[in-house]
Amino acid sequence: MASPSHDLLIVGAGINGAGIARDAALRGLSVVVCDRGDIAGATSSASTKLIHGGIRYLEQAAFGLVRESLREREILGRIAAHLVRPQRFIVPHTGERPAWMLAIGLRLYDLLAGRHSLPASQRLPPDFPLLRQLGRPVSGAHAYFDLWVDDARLTLTNLMDARTHGAEVLPRHALVTASPDPAGGWRCTLAGRAGRRDIHARCVVNVAGPWVAEVERLRGAPPPPVRLVQGTHILLPRMHAGDDAWLLQQPDRRVVFVIPWDTHSHLVGTTETALDSPSASGATAAELEYLLSAIQRAFGRRLHTDDIQWAFSGMRPLIGGDGRDARTASREYRLSLDTPDGQRAWLTVQGGKLTTYRRLAETAVDLLNGPLGHATRSSTADRDLPGSGSAGSAALATLHREAGILPTDWIDALWRRHGTLTARLIGEYTRGTGDPGRDFGGGLFEAEARWCAAHEWATDAEDVMWRRTRCGVRMSPVQRAAFSSWWRAQSFA
Ligand SMILES: Cc1cc2nc3c(=O)[nH]c(=O)nc-3n(C[C@H](O)[C@H](O)[C@H](O)COP(=O)(O)OP(=O)(O)OC[C@H]3O[C@@H](n4cnc5c(N)ncnc54)[C@H](O)[C@@H]3O)c2cc1C
Repeated sequence: MASPSHDLLIVGAGINGAGIARDAALRGLSVVVCDRGDIAGATSSASTKLIHGGIRYLEQAAFGLVRESLREREILGRIAAHLVRPQRFIVPHTGERPAWMLAIGLRLYDLLAGRHSLPASQRLPPDFPLLRQLGRPVSGAHAYFDLWVDDARLTLTNLMDARTHGAEVLPRHALVTASPDPAGGWRCTLAGRAGRRDIHARCVVNVAGPWVAEVERLRGAPPPPVRLVQGTHILLPRMHAGDDAWLLQQPDRRVVFVIPWDTHSHLVGTTETALDSPSASGATAAELEYLLSAIQRAFGRRLHTDDIQWAFSGMRPLIGGDGRDARTASREYRLSLDTPDGQRAWLTVQGGKLTTYRRLAETAVDLLNGPLGHATRSSTADRDLPGSGSAGSAALATLHREAGILPTDWIDALWRRHGTLTARLIGEYTRGTGDPGRDFGGGLFEAEARWCAAHEWATDAEDVMWRRTRCGVRMSPVQRAAFSSWWRAQSFA
């Protein structure tokens, strides 16, 4: 190969692209990662946000996937400590599966996790107080733990670490052409808001999720079979107080999660609606009705579309072509390496889960060692992501002590989003006066917005409201409009 300017061009800044960028940059490779939209602007901000083995995948005998996922759960609990929280799930015995089957499944789940730091599953008696919240008596329940994570920020922190190790990150830059360079590598063109940019890379990684086939076509390759399944979540007023979540079995053998979002709301999802092609049409009436009916069946409360505080949809890019239906289709990932003429490499990534992104990234960069002529090893399992770290609650206590007049709730919210970087954010953006700047509502203050623009590649007001902070959920339409016009006036883009 000639000596092109970059080792890797990664197309797609979802969780898998971000994970590969971090892994490769930590190994010393020169990396560019581009996304035609915002970081985590697609599937990676629209998931159920669970770092989990997926107990329902046990029914499909996907033991390897569940074991790998549970190992990753332990690693992510360590390296992304500020972004995850242990979440207990209650599975009421509502008859869709016998209680003994749940007991065996959860025991297996505990065993496949090996040594882990979360409490083991347990059986709950029929008089367990929380079960009174259900609309009908049940004969008992099981409880188990997984991790809940801020998916968009997990993606972002991977890219922040990649940047620290030399990667260039280009959100709002679409790959529009890719052709072989006769001297080796790929000549690629990115189209961004400021115009076009040519990139030369020895290897291209197509990690465009639902658009993987579209990106394959840019190099004239046949598109891989992809199965697209839309999943919708809704935020509803809280069913009850407390930290526990529910896993509700449905008559069609699917499951619906009901997870505490904040003190006001529960997150309810998800659906599985087959799509023919990537689409941004959003939640369908049928999906909303499916979720509202699940709530009615479980809690005996008829809620209506007017009660929905927020709805979001994402597309699962599952590996296609195996003839299985959406519920049972594999959540595994597939990496296909193509090295035409030995002159260049193209790696295509398909499928996967948020949970397994780190392992997927490790495997991807291991595969690229061959064509790049390297023998590098991954170090991502042993290094904290930016904001994570051992300082933990002691550092938060110090922040509270030194915060002066800064709102206590705001410091807690900053900590959940930025972890140990909170001290820097406060130091840089409250101008030493303890003033967080303009209050935009919903928990969003000017100081954090400025941080997102300066350190987190936020270029549009939506990036801040819906992915960097999700404060948009609690802002009124008037507050969102006011924030957007303030943002435009700052010329951050
Ligand atoms: C409803 C739902 C719930 C889920 N829940 C969970 C869960 O709880 N736990 C779990 O482990 N997994 C979950 N998943 C799976 C997980 O969210 C996905 O596997 C993961 O987010 C996929 O990430 P990705 O990086 O492959 O794709 P994406 O996040 O979709 O990223 C692909 C990116 O490529 C970009 N792109 C496309 N074309 C171009 C181009 N030409 N140039 C530049 N960029 C381009 C897009 O803009 C996009 O940002 C869920 C998925 C869905 C849909």
